Amino acid sequence: MYKIPGEEEIGSAITKILEKYREVESQKLLHSLVLKKLKEQNQYYMLSEDRVRKIASRLPAVRIFVEKRKTDREAKKCYVCGSELEVLKVKDLYGNEAAVGKKCRVCGFKMDRKNLMPRKYVFLKRS
Ligand SMILES: [Zn+2]
Repeated sequence: MYKIPGEEEIGSAITKILEKYREVESQKLLHSLVLKKLKEQNQYYMLSEDRVRKIASRLPAVRIFVEKRKTDREAKKCYVCGSELEVLKVKDLYGNEAAVGKKCRVCGFKMDRKNLMPRKYVFLKRS
């Protein structure tokens, strides 16, 4: 038996945790701190790491820093919020367009090169 906490409850737990610690250095750690806090209200609460990160990405008081590593696979969805990525292009001296990276229109996450994937997420409180 389990229960799914609402976005507002999760958001307020994330905010409280970051107010206390200022910085949480992994998604796994943030998830366990949030879950622990939510379980004070309801011991049957469950949630995934992805959901914690996506909700954190929508909170104005939270900044997410993504440490990346190389991969062979091309990024299609935003690593922070899961939205579509837009290809960033620049024109060279001859007017030819070249892709220089990707950007998420929803949360602003940017990738300078194509084939990178997240190694670690760091959650910071915006001051
Ligand atoms: Zn995004």
